Amino acid sequence: MVVVMRKVCPIRSVPGKPIPSIRTSALSSNVDVPGAPVHPTARGIACWTILAAMKRLWLGLIAAASACSTSASKLDSVATGAGSAVAAQDAGTAPSRGTPRTPRKPLTLTYLGVAGWQITDGTTTVLVDPYFSRPTLDAAMASDPAAVAKHAPAKADLVVVGHSHVDHLLDAPAVALKSGAQIMGSISTTRYARAVGMPEDRVIPVQGGEDYDFGAVSVRVLPSLHSALDEKHWDGQRTEIAADPKLPLTFDGFAAGGTFGYLIRIGGHEVLVLSTANYIERELVGLTPDIAIVATGLRQELYDYSCRLMRATGSPAHVLTTHFDAWREPLEPTPPLDAETRADLAAFEAEIHACAPSTVVTTPERWKPIVIE
Ligand SMILES: [Zn+2]
Repeated sequence: MVVVMRKVCPIRSVPGKPIPSIRTSALSSNVDVPGAPVHPTARGIACWTILAAMKRLWLGLIAAASACSTSASKLDSVATGAGSAVAAQDAGTAPSRGTPRTPRKPLTLTYLGVAGWQITDGTTTVLVDPYFSRPTLDAAMASDPAAVAKHAPAKADLVVVGHSHVDHLLDAPAVALKSGAQIMGSISTTRYARAVGMPEDRVIPVQGGEDYDFGAVSVRVLPSLHSALDEKHWDGQRTEIAADPKLPLTFDGFAAGGTFGYLIRIGGHEVLVLSTANYIERELVGLTPDIAIVATGLRQELYDYSCRLMRATGSPAHVLTTHFDAWREPLEPTPPLDAETRADLAAFEAEIHACAPSTVVTTPERWKPIVIE
């Protein structure tokens, strides 16, 4: 590199005013007469600019190499079983954006209806948008304690909420309270959670971009978008639940509060969750989840929804559909999917396979666990 720099940028020593800053640095070895005063000719300035940039690049490369070395040592030190975490990482797909992948365990994903999921590696449990109550939508709405008692797990670690519409948020705080979990979501979500009675130290407000480590699980919060309601004319993306809301809220009171996707790293897997059918493509590029939970409703409003998603995320091995069932219908007994919905799900699977032929697309059944090795 140094040889090239000398060849491209011959700095001439010319009598004149010295420029100490470029004589005393490590780059002085590139000056024809080390230590001699140099003159800032236009060519010289251009060359020094390039030299300085290359120095920064070189120092950056050294720092990156050092960080990689430290990171590898750290992974080795926490490795369990026969192989190291590094070996496990090499055996699988590359982790998203440099995230270390821990040894993989079977992951059990259970569909809870609407956009709700329970995800567990047997030790740690994350819930997504758990919604069991089926309130009348034209009156004030409260979580149904009997439904939560029956369907919420006894123990969970974290509840993540994609946005704060009623069919994603209504029961989430009650489920978190019952299961001992923390709750993560938008400012609107956390306002509602506190109003319901979640203690402050179990409420995690996010705005998108966070990448939070909880030890056995880590969660990257992805800025996202709600599905294109009202044939794209909906303007409620940024509406908020009021501060110190008076409960119970009405349907309109459950404002969207912004939308998030989540990348949940658990049990050596990376699970991308999009609980409403939209996303910001640039927020997904470079992620390599092995499982993607993908909302399907209203995707027809978007350009090339399925293939853009597959290309951005490296075609996850598994796609699980979500938010396709009748969210206004009573929870039990589980209503059968109507013909139109079944046809739409078949179309979605065909869309995925058109550009990701190896991806397994699964439409889940409520309460029936899906185990992914
Ligand atoms: Zn919604």
